[in-house]
Amino acid sequence: MKTAYKHWAALAQEIKDSGLWKTERIITTPQGAQIDTTATKGVINMCANNYLGLSNNEDIKKAAIEGIGRWGYGYSSVRFICGTSQLHKDLEEKLSNFLGMEDTILYSSCYDANGGLFETILTAEDAIISDELNHASIIDGVRLCKAMRYRYKNNNMEELENCLKDATEKGARIKAIVTDGVFSMDGTIADLVSVCDLADKYDAIVIVDDSHGVGVIGDNLKGAHEHCGVIERIDVMTGTLGKALGGSSGGYTTGKKAIIDILRQRSRTYLFSNTLSPIIASASIKVIDMIENDKELVGRIKENTAYFRKGLKEIGYDIIEGTHPIVPIMTYDEIKAGQLAEKMLEKGVYVIGFFFPVVPRGKARVRTQVSAAHTREQLDHALNAFKEAKAELGI
Ligand SMILES: *Cc1c(COP(=O)(O)O)cnc(C)c1O
Repeated sequence: MKTAYKHWAALAQEIKDSGLWKTERIITTPQGAQIDTTATKGVINMCANNYLGLSNNEDIKKAAIEGIGRWGYGYSSVRFICGTSQLHKDLEEKLSNFLGMEDTILYSSCYDANGGLFETILTAEDAIISDELNHASIIDGVRLCKAMRYRYKNNNMEELENCLKDATEKGARIKAIVTDGVFSMDGTIADLVSVCDLADKYDAIVIVDDSHGVGVIGDNLKGAHEHCGVIERIDVMTGTLGKALGGSSGGYTTGKKAIIDILRQRSRTYLFSNTLSPIIASASIKVIDMIENDKELVGRIKENTAYFRKGLKEIGYDIIEGTHPIVPIMTYDEIKAGQLAEKMLEKGVYVIGFFFPVVPRGKARVRTQVSAAHTREQLDHALNAFKEAKAELGI
């Protein structure tokens, strides 16, 4: 055996020995509130990012098919050669208007949006100040960039201010604060009012990755910036089309025109990667139309979230408080988190336990996610199962 394969076999064994080897359940239906897997039939799905239930929505599928009919299957080019169709421009404009921003640039994913952002707009003369709970794609994007790096404790404004002071003393030219709009393991929302206040005080810009916020929170589901009332104070937002906004794939960066202009010229993950499929672009326009016009849809995600959160509290679970459809049920104990997820599957509810290294040691949990597609009966079934599981496991 070549040395390389010996190395990887040992590494795989090491991961298995530590109990952290991930296996993937195979689903045999489209994504939805209720799904089949190769092992279980008709389970209620409470771990998808399908917040608005649009992943298999008939109107969205129709818009995707219309996209193929009008624009074809693929576009076989990056944007700046011959990969910019009117459809792509329309989606960019749609996103700008919906999110209250000046201009938008599309990427193949939000991972790429973050990967192509920091090194493009910042250099060694600048400073990036990042929340410790930020998504892996922000961390990787920051790694590519030569700017001074600071990290502050989650949502801790005192630490953020200290970083800003230090960066100012060190003479950083541009200071950029970057935070997730919604922290995905906790379902908590960044304190964007304080972030923007500090940004003003220290002449910094604000970058928000709102992948779990857009289409999910705010009166009109515009995201964390709407929820916090700071739409016009945000400089740049990155986001995904792969969660609430239809759940296929794709991402975007939106914000001040001065920044988007530079990204279009220099962002490597934009310049050297294929344009978004017309299928996704066409469906995404329809998704935003629906959010803007279907007030029932907007209401349903909020109602379902409030109902489920209240139910879990009545049962006596320790949940992280909030208003987001990500509802973490804290077990703290790692084994208990695994057992609870296992037990719930036996009772027809698909949820996943999260433990180290995804969350800190001693903070194990089952992370549930509510969807607008869940019926009241399904939520009641899930709550009842959680109640039984709690008693049976002594949580
Ligand atoms: C899911 C997520 C991403 C990645 O989005 P993709 O479009 O799937 O690459 C990036 N940032 C945050 C905060 C996310 O939650």
